[in-house]
Amino acid sequence: MSPDIERLLQLQHLATTIDEARQEIAAHPQRLADAETRLGEATQAVDAAKQRLKTSQDARRDLEKEAAVFQGRLTKFKDQLSAVKTNREFTAMQHEIDAATRDLGVVEEKVLERMMEADAVAVEVKQAEGELASQKKAIEAEKKTLTEELATVEASLKTASDARAALVAQTDPNLIARFEQVAKARKGIALSRATYDGLCTACHVRLRPHVFQQIRQNDAIIQCDSCQRIMYYQPPPPPIEQAVTHRS
Ligand SMILES: [Zn+2]
Repeated sequence: MSPDIERLLQLQHLATTIDEARQEIAAHPQRLADAETRLGEATQAVDAAKQRLKTSQDARRDLEKEAAVFQGRLTKFKDQLSAVKTNREFTAMQHEIDAATRDLGVVEEKVLERMMEADAVAVEVKQAEGELASQKKAIEAEKKTLTEELATVEASLKTASDARAALVAQTDPNLIARFEQVAKARKGIALSRATYDGLCTACHVRLRPHVFQQIRQNDAIIQCDSCQRIMYYQPPPPPIEQAVTHRS
């Protein structure tokens, strides 16, 4: 393979590494923000459950006040019952007592419902708090990993950029210009391998036979007629039997 094609292959490899590293670095803030969002959601779930518990407890306190009023009224009626003088007054008072007892029963029933509701909501609060605690741990670990990954990818970006600069310095500027021109037009991929049966792997167009013959020599810069990528050829690996024979 010509040194020029070898350099371009290395250049392509480095350019791809650099592109990927840059994309990963660009995505870093969003990945951090996503982790923070998940933490925020878990915190909100705890707050919402606590709010439901408070609402339920407030409602229960109101009902208990109501029950106390009915209870007071009932006590008063019972006291008055001993002081009535006629049957008519007695019957009327008895009606009042029955009504107050019913009202009190209804409110006490509601108090019980609220107590059971509060028990269930308290369990939800505990569950949400547990979920928040485990999310906090997971997100802290994730942030640590993200920070380490960022450092690694920044280091690999620097290594690849330095290697690229060194490679560019020892390569014909016209060749670099041609590479950059194709890369720009073809989403960063300036090189394409010719298949064993003469297709461009990038655009799948069949190469003209004499062009394919030239590409197989790997000693000139030849571009695909269709996608303009710079073509190279990798001969098939030797058959296994042959390799074994050769070694023995
Ligand atoms: Zn092509």
